[in-house]
Amino acid sequence: MNRFDAIVIGAGHNGLTCAGYLAMAGLKVLVLEQRDIVGGCVSTEELFPGYRFNTGALELVGIHGGPVVKDLELEKFGLTFIEMDPQIFAPFPDGKSLFFYKSVSKTAKEIERLSPHDAKAYVEYVDTWSEINSLIGMTMLIPPPPLRELILLAEGAEAEEVIRKLVTSAKQILEETFETEYLRAPIALLGPGAAALDPASVGTGLLAGWHSVFHQLGVKHAAGGNGMLCEAMARCVRHYGGIIRTNSIVKRVVIRDNTAVGVELSNGELIEGKIVVSSADPKQTFLQIVGPDHLDSNFVKKVEAIRSADGITLRIDAAVSELPRYTACPEGMAAESSVGPQLICPSIDYLEKAYREYRDGRPPEKPALWISTPSTTDPTLAPLGKHVLTIETRYSPYTLKNGKSWDQIREQEGEKIIDLVAEYAPNIHRSIEKIRVESPVDLEKRLMLNKSDYYHMHMTIDQLFSFRPILGYSGYKSPVKNLYLTGAGTHPGGSVTGFPGHNAAKVILEDLQPTPS
Ligand SMILES: Cc1cc2nc3c(=O)[nH]c(=O)nc-3n(C[C@H](O)[C@H](O)[C@H](O)COP(=O)(O)OP(=O)(O)OC[C@H]3O[C@@H](n4cnc5c(N)ncnc54)[C@H](O)[C@@H]3O)c2cc1C
Repeated sequence: MNRFDAIVIGAGHNGLTCAGYLAMAGLKVLVLEQRDIVGGCVSTEELFPGYRFNTGALELVGIHGGPVVKDLELEKFGLTFIEMDPQIFAPFPDGKSLFFYKSVSKTAKEIERLSPHDAKAYVEYVDTWSEINSLIGMTMLIPPPPLRELILLAEGAEAEEVIRKLVTSAKQILEETFETEYLRAPIALLGPGAAALDPASVGTGLLAGWHSVFHQLGVKHAAGGNGMLCEAMARCVRHYGGIIRTNSIVKRVVIRDNTAVGVELSNGELIEGKIVVSSADPKQTFLQIVGPDHLDSNFVKKVEAIRSADGITLRIDAAVSELPRYTACPEGMAAESSVGPQLICPSIDYLEKAYREYRDGRPPEKPALWISTPSTTDPTLAPLGKHVLTIETRYSPYTLKNGKSWDQIREQEGEKIIDLVAEYAPNIHRSIEKIRVESPVDLEKRLMLNKSDYYHMHMTIDQLFSFRPILGYSGYKSPVKNLYLTGAGTHPGGSVTGFPGHNAAKVILEDLQPTPS
């Protein structure tokens, strides 16, 4: 068997981050990735000649706010960011629209056109949540402290209110804060909507408050496509002596005496490692790659009980001859409307209706939509004068309960979504030159993501912090000695931050330090 100091399963951005830190510390590292490219949920692919699409994460909000970019010298390895400002454009069916900018005061001024009450409320909202998010931020780069200790960081009567905000629903918070749907709906889509959760579900309050981070950190894309983030990470790993093997599916972790000693690939190849780190989702890691036979039955039950999404999105990638022209866009603002994501979600009721249909296993008649046209600010993504356009639905079920399969309805669902966009941007039909529709089942296959949950498990308060992935195992360790965990299923969770990869590497390096005699 080949022998490595550390074998990392998965070359998503967290697996690569972890591998980067370990390689920089001098460990002999091997990263194994089932796909033919690195990046996992953060990749950019040429789907049609000359057109490069972000086939995973569309917007980057966390990674540039943490230490990973600097620590792994990603700029040296080719990473540059492009800032989106305006950050968001939300057109509404009544012909009104709203831009969100990096600047809170500029956004408030924009909101004033629609509701002076909400303009004032928005400034307070961002202030309050910036404070709460700063408290939470103190736990981002360490194994999570128990939730009760986190709450104690807030003082006095305020602490009680922080608890209420964290455990209540996003809908409750948004409805008590804002008087119009112009604010409530886009923030609900960005929070619980993005996480495949019902905005009315308790424990989603935190996701509504996460929105303040847009102002704190800004919204960015990686130049050349978001996949360039992971390309730069891969260069870092290789520069420090690490090896990345693509087209390598890890079938199982080899375990002897309850200790991980290597992995077996799907082709039967055995590779020896002093430690193994899995960035696959916790259910795949424990129930398939480790296997219940190596685990205590109570632990297995807890893993089985982890709640995750049953599909999140249906994606459409289209090569287009022109950008969407929204009828609700104020005159002279067309260029700005396609800089950041364009959100179609008229109200929280609309989002909840889509959620109910999704939960019942039916593609919503009118889903909320997240539209991205990154070639607006990065012309390298498409031929001169042309654009890439991605549309993601919220929510699309993985398990259909309407007697159909995704293979049967994929294309017609795609057409339905384009018709829906046309209600807001009538030029969409004539602009499309080439199109690919990807269902939740396709996404699962491409990314080996359990039911295509790109956060690896739900991001509700009872599955975050010390509860992620399960209570007692939030410190990146597992019941199997020398098997470590990273990825979106570990603290602080999904999204593109690199924090789970960073934190797992720190824990591993601490464990590997010789104990003083
Ligand atoms: C369509 C889409 C849109 C998104 N939009 C956004 C967004 O706009 N903003 C945002 O912040 N986040 C977004 N996300 C979520 C975010 O990208 C993910 O939460 C995050 O990137 C997860 O990173 P990870 O490294 O933890 O896991 P992953 O990216 O899932 O990486 C795990 C890797 O392991 C590999 N793997 C799995 N099993 C095996 C195995 N047995 N053997 C070998 N390899 C294996 C997978 O192929 C994958 O490369 C989106 C995700 C998707 C898919």
